[in-house]
Amino acid sequence: MMSSQATAIPRRQFLQSSASLAAAAAISRLTTPLIAATEEASAPRKTIGIQVGAVSFVDEGTEPLLDLLQERGAVNTLFLTTFTYGRGLAGRQIPGQPFPDHGVQESDEKFFHGGNYATPHPEFYRNTVLKETRAPDHGNLDILHEVLPKAKHRGMKVFCSCEDAWSSSVPGLAELVEIDLYGRRTGGLCLFNPDVRHFWTGLVEDYCRSYDIDGILFFNERNGPLLNALGASHAQSIASSRVTCFCEHHQKAAKERGIDFERVKAGYRKLDEFVQGALSNQRPVDGYFVEFWRLLVEFPEILLWDRLFDFGKHQVLQEVHDTVKAIRPELQVGFHIEHVNSFNPIFRATRRYEALAAKADFLKIVVYNNCGGERYAHFIHNIGSTVFRDVPQTELLSFNNHLLNYQHEATLSELPGAGLSADYVTRETERALAGVQGKSKIYPGIDIDIPTGKNSRKASPEDTHAAVSAALKAGADGLILSRKYSEMRLGNLAAAGRAVRDFKK
Ligand SMILES: [Zn+2]
Repeated sequence: MMSSQATAIPRRQFLQSSASLAAAAAISRLTTPLIAATEEASAPRKTIGIQVGAVSFVDEGTEPLLDLLQERGAVNTLFLTTFTYGRGLAGRQIPGQPFPDHGVQESDEKFFHGGNYATPHPEFYRNTVLKETRAPDHGNLDILHEVLPKAKHRGMKVFCSCEDAWSSSVPGLAELVEIDLYGRRTGGLCLFNPDVRHFWTGLVEDYCRSYDIDGILFFNERNGPLLNALGASHAQSIASSRVTCFCEHHQKAAKERGIDFERVKAGYRKLDEFVQGALSNQRPVDGYFVEFWRLLVEFPEILLWDRLFDFGKHQVLQEVHDTVKAIRPELQVGFHIEHVNSFNPIFRATRRYEALAAKADFLKIVVYNNCGGERYAHFIHNIGSTVFRDVPQTELLSFNNHLLNYQHEATLSELPGAGLSADYVTRETERALAGVQGKSKIYPGIDIDIPTGKNSRKASPEDTHAAVSAALKAGADGLILSRKYSEMRLGNLAAAGRAVRDFKK
């Protein structure tokens, strides 16, 4: 009944298999009391969300999957991936990682493409060259058309997850990409480019006007040039010569703000030299940290340029928010707040929760604790290779823990295998709640089987139960099981559901 072919499943065939699975599920419902679903339908309730992509509904059938999410995960809200070209939110398990205990056990590499998994309506894309984004992965399937009525019928809410992650195959994209320090085109879209801004507002307007959804969750994990130059995140290389964006729109924005574009470029070239020197062990006379800080003092344009990147990114968030609210004020808008915000103090300093809360109904704060161990260790290795190269990395970790108010976390060599603790989930949830001061809701993003390295932490049901309990006990307004159902093992999903029900007792 379920297709085991790793090819695009025609919509007709999908609907047929969905229908027969739904019939089977209906029969099972007659014999199994639906305690979970009725419990979940009673109001008021916390948002218990899950991130899920189109392929899971195609592979497992819409009604059976909704049954499973409600019964095992206590889920009452779908954060359905409707726009991305990235594999973090869409597609089956990423290639090279073991499949979980459900779904089709075959890689979708042959048909995974990404894009808009609903139907783009041309009238919303008049002001952008990005007109052709329909995801071809599942034929003519419109995932909102398929899932929305069935979820609504059960009293589940549906949000569209939209991610700023692109493929070079999109027509028109090449004109809109960022330009790096040495004038080369990159793969990311410039957030100051009017075509890009019009695309995002057009996309969310399309979803909010064309479908009876509950809101939008917007993802943009891109960092500014300072962090990228230092590799001061978890998953990126140290790319000091590839920093962005130096396009005409950025030059114009700089001029309007009185920022000297030539000084910006000179500063980032010096930073590039500093980073490359550090990586080849050329210690500056006064040491790495002093030389880095001196660069910031002598070229304050380095910070101004990083700030300008953030301004462009947050301008898009504001425009997305305002567009959605102008359509129907009760539609909810939320932003995914990336992982680096929790373990990099330099990044933390660039964000005020209160300011983010002013343009959002909810913030999904990433508190992925299992994969957090290897990610945090990676950050320490990167920052310890440049700015803090004079400090032994074990001491750097200890120092950083103090800055971040982390306690009882593993040592550097043990971090990838140990992951971060449930206490980390508590602390980050409490920090966010204190930061937003009631101006937006806080939904911690809970790590359920996010892929990690071979010897790194793999979550147990006990870990998952502890993380979910920690978020709820800390006072979170809800939570979002992440990153996507297609990589979660059912035992961990059920542990999350148990923690939600245990909390209610
Ligand atoms: Zn630009």
